[in-house]
Amino acid sequence: MALAPALFLDRDGNLIVDHHHTCEVHQITPISGVKEALEACLQAGYRLFVLTNQSGINRGKFTWAQYHACNRRMLELLDLPTPGILEIKAAPERPDEPSVYRKPSPQFIREMVAKYQLDPARCWMIGDRITDWDAGKNAGIRSCAVRSGAGRPEDFAYAESQGFAIRADFPEFVRLDLGLKC
Ligand SMILES: [Mg+2]
Repeated sequence: MALAPALFLDRDGNLIVDHHHTCEVHQITPISGVKEALEACLQAGYRLFVLTNQSGINRGKFTWAQYHACNRRMLELLDLPTPGILEIKAAPERPDEPSVYRKPSPQFIREMVAKYQLDPARCWMIGDRITDWDAGKNAGIRSCAVRSGAGRPEDFAYAESQGFAIRADFPEFVRLDLGLKC
């Protein structure tokens, strides 16, 4: 069987508007054009995964139940055709805590590449923070920095120095880097 292409997607500031420790269902708002962009990716055969650092959980700012409710709301609003997003992985640890999956760890990406027989040469990690881009780099896949979230000018200077793609948002990435209409 041919290896499949895949996208590893940061959640806050990439798929949905980042409210900084987004944890209330009413805050969940897909970024404009993201639904159509994800649909174009599914149509083109990309496997979709979400990888999200959620230190607000271990900081005591919100609970796993709130986190899961937000994901359910996001999936409801996106309403993607089958197979949709195959797996969503959250790392609840704070930056100062040991963590297997917290970005920039490449662990989740590596596991999914093996489990779903993905082609690393056709995999991307897309997000708004350095930790996202470095997770892709550490996993040996390409990274895209989007300006739709919390990235600061110095972060994008770093992205440029690393040769990461830099785009306004996820839909622009899909159009320019994947060559899909959306
Ligand atoms: Mg983010």
